[in-house]
Amino acid sequence: MTWVDFRAVKEAVSMADGLARYGVHLRQANGFTLRGNCPLPSHSTKSAGTFVVNTEKNIWTCKSDSCRQTSDKKGGNVLDFVSAMENCSVREAALKLADWFHVSDERKREAVKSKIVTPEPQPEPATNTPLGFQLKGIDPGHPYLAERGVQRGVAEYFGVGFFPGKGSMSGRVVFPIHDEQDQLVAYAGRSLHGEEPRYRLPNAFHKNCVLWNLNRASRSGEKRVVLVEGFFDCMKLVQAGFTTTVALMGRTLSEAQHALLTNRFREVLVMLDGDEPGRAASAELASGLVHAAFVRIVDLPAGVQPDQLSSEQIKEYLGNA
Ligand SMILES: [Zn+2]
Repeated sequence: MTWVDFRAVKEAVSMADGLARYGVHLRQANGFTLRGNCPLPSHSTKSAGTFVVNTEKNIWTCKSDSCRQTSDKKGGNVLDFVSAMENCSVREAALKLADWFHVSDERKREAVKSKIVTPEPQPEPATNTPLGFQLKGIDPGHPYLAERGVQRGVAEYFGVGFFPGKGSMSGRVVFPIHDEQDQLVAYAGRSLHGEEPRYRLPNAFHKNCVLWNLNRASRSGEKRVVLVEGFFDCMKLVQAGFTTTVALMGRTLSEAQHALLTNRFREVLVMLDGDEPGRAASAELASGLVHAAFVRIVDLPAGVQPDQLSSEQIKEYLGNA
């Protein structure tokens, strides 16, 4: 029998190492918590975001019924993880890990660790510096906005419009982005003729510490906010009279965004796109927010996005929420 020191393996190989070995990418949920879809072969259902890793304690768990039914407990340390991934014993898992990460050879291990081990860096609490300029000549009356169902007055309210000038935003519809202190920190620019990227953002811009329209939404003094994915969703909701609406500019809520939201609002209506990613993201957002706010998910029918709805339809969906 080959000798293997379980404790040495556990100490040498973190959960982040184990995840990296299988190419598993999880999202930073908060602090030391990573969360994402379960990579285990025993996970047979489509339940999203049930796999949770604590990178401080180096433990994991899958909260899905699917994984729990296969054994009384699905979770544990990195040895249990590899054992579940490989469908092998914990001892075999330890041998594999020792081999992959050269645990028996101290010097090799250090060298290998520094190369292979790439745990997600803890994100620094980033901030955006206010822009020192404003784009001039933005046209809120551009036909593209009307085509997307956005009235001129609403475009003006947001300062959104076509930018005819020079620079990286040239020929795009631009969206001024303000931080929570109402400082202009960036412009996002959407292409009109399918050019990539569809949305252009400055490289130095930290999307994760801003919620679009929070500056205006928090002025309402309302305690209920609607959370949507994108700029157009947000504009259409405001147009329908729901001025206390903010956009994620994506589908995930960072720790900073979580704080921005829950410091101001008591109730969050999550209204993402009515598709598979939207549903999965809604569930994940709700589970992250539920300890800090009253959360409700507005379930849109398959294929329906808020930006495609009329004001009447928006009122109907939100009225019933
Ligand atoms: Zn699972």
